Amino acid sequence: MTHTPGIVIVGASGRMGQMLIKTVLDSDKATLAGAVERSGHDWVGQDIGAAMGGQPVGVTVTDDALEAFASAQAVIDFTVPEATLAFSKLAAQARCVHVIGTTGMTDEQIAELEPAARHATIVRAGNMSLGVNLLTQLTKKVAAALDEDFDIEVIEAHHHHKVDAPSGTALMLGEAAAEGRGVALKDVEDRARDGITGARNKGDIGFSVIRGGDIVGEHDVLFAAAGERIVLRHMATDRSIFARGALKAALWGQGKAPG
Ligand code: NAD
Repeated sequence: MTHTPGIVIVGASGRMGQMLIKTVLDSDKATLAGAVERSGHDWVGQDIGAAMGGQPVGVTVTDDALEAFASAQAVIDFTVPEATLAFSKLAAQARCVHVIGTTGMTDEQIAELEPAARHATIVRAGNMSLGVNLLTQLTKKVAAALDEDFDIEVIEAHHHHKVDAPSGTALMLGEAAAEGRGVALKDVEDRARDGITGARNKGDIGFSVIRGGDIVGEHDVLFAAAGERIVLRHMATDRSIFARGALKAALWGQGKAPG
């Protein structure tokens, strides 16, 4: 009998889903307790190891999330906002830690997680990598140290499949810069420029988005003044950094109070 926490991966066939499955299978601190995909997906009913092109691992992909959650201690979720909201209710029912990596959630959708957080521990981050979390702290510090003579721009690049923009990480960095400056991001954000936009407003925090190829995720925070520029940069070259961070969060959440 195993004593390591059982983890369910939802969105198991996705880019992050498959990386999470591998990460949990390779870990000696957790057990793969389930793999969930949406109803009608080809992989439902197949062994997850075989579906990923490897050896069977004894876990069948299911579309019955609640049943999968019932015998698990944590759910790791890198899917889409609507699915994440549905999973939050089921994870709360099953009292599972719910680790949310899904991005592109609106403020209203984030608020909808609150009832679930009364019953279960939820860990949500727009980026689960250690490097980006350090970059966030550095961004806040640099923004606090410099005045509005430095224009702040967040520039991000991702693979051509990504559906939301700017990335959750870019928004997180924008929030950190705004916090450093003591302003609310919603009052200073400049998200899309096209046509005769007029000159840049002093104090704005701008966002630029690049989509192409297989770029895993790159983020620059640019502080540009007359005669000089500072650039803080993070480049992700492998999705495993997000999966390892998410597994760490699932283990950290064990035994924590709901919230
Ligand atoms: P993807 O499209 O490859 O995978 C999404 C998966 O979710 C698919 O397999 C899809 O079938 C599944 N899914 C959708 N609805 C479902 C449902 N109702 N039930 C079960 N499964 C369902 O996308 P991806 O590149 O793996 O990214 C997924 C999310 O994770 C995105 O929001 C992305 O921005 C985010 N992401 C976050 C981080 C982070 O560190 N927080 C890192 C990378 C990606």
